[in-house]
Amino acid sequence: MKLIDRFNRTHDYLRISLTDKCNYKCIYCNPNLLSEKLEKMDLLSFEELLRVIEIFAGELNFKKFRFTGGEPLIRKDVFNFFNEVNDLKSKYKFTTGITTNGSLLKGRVKELKQSGVDSLNISLDSMNKSKFISITQKDEADRILSVIDEAIEIGYSPVKINSVIIKGINDNEILNFVDYFKNMDVNLRFIEFMPFGSNEWERNGLISYKEMKNIVDEKYSLSLLISDKNSVAKDYQMNDHLAKISFISSITDHFCSTCNRVRISSTGKFRLCLFSEGKHEINFKELFRKNYSNKDIINELHEAIQHKWEKHPEPEELSQMMFNNMMSIGG
Ligand code: SAM
Repeated sequence: MKLIDRFNRTHDYLRISLTDKCNYKCIYCNPNLLSEKLEKMDLLSFEELLRVIEIFAGELNFKKFRFTGGEPLIRKDVFNFFNEVNDLKSKYKFTTGITTNGSLLKGRVKELKQSGVDSLNISLDSMNKSKFISITQKDEADRILSVIDEAIEIGYSPVKINSVIIKGINDNEILNFVDYFKNMDVNLRFIEFMPFGSNEWERNGLISYKEMKNIVDEKYSLSLLISDKNSVAKDYQMNDHLAKISFISSITDHFCSTCNRVRISSTGKFRLCLFSEGKHEINFKELFRKNYSNKDIINELHEAIQHKWEKHPEPEELSQMMFNNMMSIGG
């Protein structure tokens, strides 16, 4: 049975945060404001996560799972977990991906590929050494560029590169990114800066996807690609170059009407939207502790999905909401 909400949206994509911890302190995520640090016992165990995946894939026909965080690769034995997920993939026919800052992948991309993770998104907000440090608090720009090379070589095709663009911080680097990556097998994804209660979002820091595209258009010609119906991105192929370029317009042109995603936080909270504050959402850790059967859990999920809002509130309102931290929900 499918997970369908009152706006007739079918959900078949689950994003799972493996941990709220991160080895970077990106200014737009702002982990410093996380109220509590979680203990290992608060997290869903790998065993519990495998059960979650079996429920969503086996009973609700989910076709895509993405692991994120915090930094998902910080979690101990995560590659073994990916191997176990891989065993479920052949049974239930779904795909997997991770979103990572790439820092812990150096020399390990082959292992990641062999563990069955299908797609790889690496976050990179600046190629400039000192700017990278000022955004992430880590001196690792070169390291991440070399991990991207490694990922291309191992055959992730394309390697997706996520860049959050903030006016006055890194909007002057958009063309540097394109110049550098244009002949590589990558998909550059320029993301609008999103507000969370825990970051210092201001409208004047927002650069819209249209403005970003205008910057690229000044130098390069792009052809619009037909995107998947649930895509969150406006996808383009660079004419005469290998790279694809996408713009993620969560704020100025949201894609809520075709949203097929739900999320689970690292502590097992089922989240209906990246921005929701968790009022109507259920807690897998609790359901497991109370020995709920899969059938009971599915009933809870069907009830919860009816509370998904039609679209997320306006950014000014989002920036005031305090319980939707990106670090624990997972980007
Ligand atoms: N640590 C991993 C990483 O760096 O990719 C995974 C977690 S991170 C929260 C997931 C994605 O969310 C990253 O691509 C990050 O750039 C993006 N992100 C975080 N805060 C954001 C914000 N305020 N606006 C837009 N994107 C954001």
